[in-house]
Order: sequence, then structure tokens, then C-alpha cells
Amino acid sequence: MDFISITKPIEKIEEEQEVIILGGGPAGLTAGIYAGRNLWKTLIIEKAIVGGNAALTEKIDNYPGFPEGITGEELVKRMETQAKKFGSKILEVDVLNFHIDGIWKIIETSNGTYRAPTLIIATGTRPRKLEVPGEEEFIGKGVSYCAVCDGAFFTGKRVAVIGGGDSAVEEAIYLTKFAEEVIIIHRRDTLRAEKITQQKAFSNPKIKFLWSHIVKAIEGDKKVERLILQDLKTNEIKQLPIDGVFIYVGLIPNTEIFKGILNLDKDGFIITDEKMHTSIPGIYAAGDVRGKILRQIVTAVADGAIAGMEASKFLEDIKYNKEV
Ligand code: NAP
Repeated sequence: MDFISITKPIEKIEEEQEVIILGGGPAGLTAGIYAGRNLWKTLIIEKAIVGGNAALTEKIDNYPGFPEGITGEELVKRMETQAKKFGSKILEVDVLNFHIDGIWKIIETSNGTYRAPTLIIATGTRPRKLEVPGEEEFIGKGVSYCAVCDGAFFTGKRVAVIGGGDSAVEEAIYLTKFAEEVIIIHRRDTLRAEKITQQKAFSNPKIKFLWSHIVKAIEGDKKVERLILQDLKTNEIKQLPIDGVFIYVGLIPNTEIFKGILNLDKDGFIITDEKMHTSIPGIYAAGDVRGKILRQIVTAVADGAIAGMEASKFLEDIKYNKEV
């Protein structure tokens, strides 16, 4: 088998692994369960919180097996326990860089350098920014991308949610626990969220909709006080007094360090085949970070399972020196 070799002087390797998984969300943890059950020495590297975006979801209603729903935190905690039970180690550090040397996939972290013949990329996504004046300035002062983290700060207040997808509508519903009024501002006049979620929002008396409007600017003195909006039907510019704004306008894949090494699609998601193989042998991608049609926890864990098994097969195929 041919390997791409991008030779770079090898730093001191902290510990040699058989499988390295980048990202400790549902895809990464599941890959850890499957690789661990095949008794490979498996390291999951997570830069922020184990559980990824799923851990910040208040209630998950569509994960099979939990008809009463389950909190994101509880679901991913169970996955973490299961991954550790089967021997995967979890390291919470920043990944700084990545390169390949022959068979080795080498990961430089803030805690040293690790290498393994197989790498599973499950680095997920981060929120897309609106990129309007005031957005950066007011992060933490009324601009938020996480209702579960910041919702309680807006108890009794009036907040806006930008976007019309599952995230925007679900989080708007969540925010009604705290806020007096939640206004969903969407650039079209139909939502793209799941129909059942839409129904819940339409029947919630605290949620109002502002259709066919976009945010032009976020303004205030020391904190957010108003949005400057444009009505796309009339082009009229309006002011909306508001205490906070939650932005859910899509996802950006965390793939920067793989640019120019792996094949990415036009939006930066990693291109894989149905076996989660990327363009380089021994490297797999799983979960939201790969180009796919449905980004759900249930599809992330399916990807993770396949990637974990394929990494196992790769190690067996190259007759990686292993004693059971
Ligand atoms: P999304 O589905 O990509 O939706 C983004 C929304 O933001 C769209 O309504 C889009 O409008 C709007 N938008 C994009 N750019 C904008 C801009 N510059 N200004 C104003 N509005 C803008 O993103 P998401 O809701 O974060 O969901 C991402 C993925 O995760 C989806 O596959 C979703 O199904 C999944 N997800 C699933 C669940 C669940 O199953 N419970 C929960 C959360 C997320 P248009 O509609 O006009 O394009």
C-alpha cells in the first residue's frame, strides 16, 4: 500500500498510539468504543468539553431508545463512560498541527506530540458568525451562540434568535424557559427546522416571528440594546430594541489544519466514502465534520462506529505489530 509522506522532523513523541481520535463528541466517543473493543491502544483528543456540541443541547428528543428524551449532557456522559470502559484514554488539550510521516499520522498538541498509524477526525463544527457590525464587540455582552450556556442571563428579558434551522428553533423554544419574549428573525418566510419542532415553536405563546428580515448591525452602549434590521420585502431599515441575540445561522467545520492535505468540499467539510475513508489511507472522518446530508447524533455515532471498525481493519491489514 502506498502512503503519502509529508516529511517533517519528528518531535519527541510522547506516546505511540494505534488509533488517535480527534474530537470527543458523539462520533469520536463512539469511534473510541469500537476501536477500544478491538483492543487497540486508543487516544481521544478533545480541545474543549468532552461531548462536543451535543453536550450543550438541553434535551434530545430524537435519539432512539429514549422516548422520554434525554439531556445532551447525560447522553454524552454515558458515551464517555463506555469509551473509557473499553480502554480509550481521553486527553483534553489543544491540537496545534498535523502532519504525516510514512505510516505515522502525527498530532502536535499543547501537551506534546502523539502518533498512530490511524487517525479518526471527529472535530465537529463551530457556529457560523453573522459577520455584522457589533457582533464581535458584544460577544458575552448580549451576543451568544449557546442558549444552554447563556439563556439564564436573560430571565424576564426580550431576546432575538437569528436563523430558521433546527438549532435556531430548538434553542428559541429552550430560551422561553427564561426570556419573557423570544423573537425568531429569519431571512425567508418558511423555516427549515423539523416540522415537529416548528409546531412546538408556533404554539409557544412566548415566541414571535419576524419573517424575511436580516440583521444589518447589533448596537448598544456597554451591552446589546437593539438590532438594526432590514425588511427584505420592502428594503425598509428598522430598529428592534432587544436585550440579547442568539445566533444560529449554520455551522463551520473544524478542518483548518487539514486544508491542502485531505480532500474537502467547497464548504470545508471532509469528503469521505461510505466507509468514512478520507483521501489518505488510514485517515477517517466521522460526524458533523464530514460532508453528509444529515447532521444528527444518531448519524454521528453511526459514522464513529464505521470509522472505528475501518481503523481496526487498516491496522490488521498492515499487520501492525500487536500482541493480544
Ligand atoms: P442550518 O440547518 O444550516 O440552518 C441555518 C439557518 O440560518 C438557516 O435557516 C439559514 O437560512 C439561516 N442563515 C444562514 N446564513 C444566514 C445569514 N447570513 N443571515 C441570516 N440567516 C442565515 O444550521 P443549524 O440549524 O445549526 O443545523 C445544522 C445541522 O445540524 C442541520 O443538519 C440540522 O438538521 C442539525 N441539527 C439537528 C438538530 C436535531 O435534530 N435536534 C438540532 C440542531 C441541529 P435559510 O433557511 O434561508 O438557508
